[in-house]
Amino acid sequence: MQCDSYQGDWLKAPSDVLVIGLRDDWQTSAEIQSANEATGGMIARLIENEEASFKPLKVTQILQPQGIPTKLLVLIGLGSRDTSPTSIFYRGTAAALKSISVKQRSLVRMVGFHGSAIQIRASVAGAMAGCVGQDLFKKEKSQFQPDVIQWVGIDAQSVAMGTQIGQAINQTRRLVNLPPNYMYPETLVTETIAGLQGTGVEVEVWDKARLEKERCGALLGVALGSSKEPRLVIMKYLGADPNIPPTALVGKGVTFDSGGYSIKPTDGMLTMKCDMAGAATVVGIMTAAAKLRVKKNLVGVIGLVENLISGDAMKLGDVLTARNGKTIEIHNTDAEGRLVLADCLDVALQSKPDRIVDFATLTGACVVGLGIEISGLMSNNDVWQSEIKQCADECGEYTWPLPMHSFFSELIAGKVADIKNVGEGRYGGAITAAKFLEEFVQQCPWTHIDIAGPAFLDSAKPWCDAGATGTLVRTFVELFLKD
Ligand SMILES: [Zn+2]
Repeated sequence: MQCDSYQGDWLKAPSDVLVIGLRDDWQTSAEIQSANEATGGMIARLIENEEASFKPLKVTQILQPQGIPTKLLVLIGLGSRDTSPTSIFYRGTAAALKSISVKQRSLVRMVGFHGSAIQIRASVAGAMAGCVGQDLFKKEKSQFQPDVIQWVGIDAQSVAMGTQIGQAINQTRRLVNLPPNYMYPETLVTETIAGLQGTGVEVEVWDKARLEKERCGALLGVALGSSKEPRLVIMKYLGADPNIPPTALVGKGVTFDSGGYSIKPTDGMLTMKCDMAGAATVVGIMTAAAKLRVKKNLVGVIGLVENLISGDAMKLGDVLTARNGKTIEIHNTDAEGRLVLADCLDVALQSKPDRIVDFATLTGACVVGLGIEISGLMSNNDVWQSEIKQCADECGEYTWPLPMHSFFSELIAGKVADIKNVGEGRYGGAITAAKFLEEFVQQCPWTHIDIAGPAFLDSAKPWCDAGATGTLVRTFVELFLKD
């Protein structure tokens, strides 16, 4: 799929599909007015007769419209210029492209997608994500990517940047969507290295022997039940003076989570290939940030394990010793992500970052609290948390802070060890998980993002196939593009 800027006469140049974005102010848009005139007033008539609408994500397809040399005209509703959420930029183009992805198209031309720099990049990325789905192993594909998408009146650099972001989102989605017999620690390392080829990102891989030497006892504890060996990957990108401390990005990479002896029921286990979405998010962000040459220093750390059951698997009541020396009592083997992250956070501290963010499909409790669209933010630093929240708002991705009062720490106090890996009972589970992680970040400003809701869709949305979404890749690439 190639994405280009187009500055020619789009009303005269033939296309396979012409997509026009409709807002509530469509009557004052020169582009839509000229399309309306060319079609003898058809667009206005469609809207007046409520056959087409600027309502968010409303798709109207018109086969071979008169007056415009296109095989298919698609009108996509983008809502109100003033009151629609900014997510509409990404989701609007994604919904339009998803609707036409049912067959192979050669040239798709996009009209009426103007906005701020971030909004334009979101539109370009959204179009790329909308036409890519989870049909990785189907002989007859469900979705087809067009050969070329042309953006009318959008400058070449914006299209190029949006394309890099779109590719990173699709890369993250693909890593998550790949089935767990294909995607396990070793293969995820191979994919990560392949994606970073030529970007200048330095990659260091710790195998099981190195993890033992580094005393990563929490991560290794989770890996005990699987015949697939664990890995830890450190990615370093230098975009600024090497003396400037990096931002560390840490990701949970449980390539399959059975729950261990605290086993999940079938329904809950079925989609557990998505439990490495945090690691895939870090890989996507690092790849796009490096390709876009952001002027920041970044360190990515991902911990990769499979959480299975065997004669060697960790048991309830086991005590693990984390890399930072803290001892952890295992009260639930399905609360394994925080064990993996504990050692990854400690490894990240080695790079002397001035701030850390971690991404994890960590708790069902976060989804109960915030729903499937919103990622939970938990932090020891209001400034860093607000910076993330603000950028996510600007990008139209949804996050919300949860409280981190000190009394939550009492709930994870251990009986025979320093801490235990779950709180007391079910309440506040997203927060007690974060308080557990806080034990491993020392004084470094840190924000934990629980993406358990938004990272994976059980059913398709108008703007995205079911499966992985690539949530927050865009927000963090945009954050690092800021000065
Ligand atoms: Zn689990």
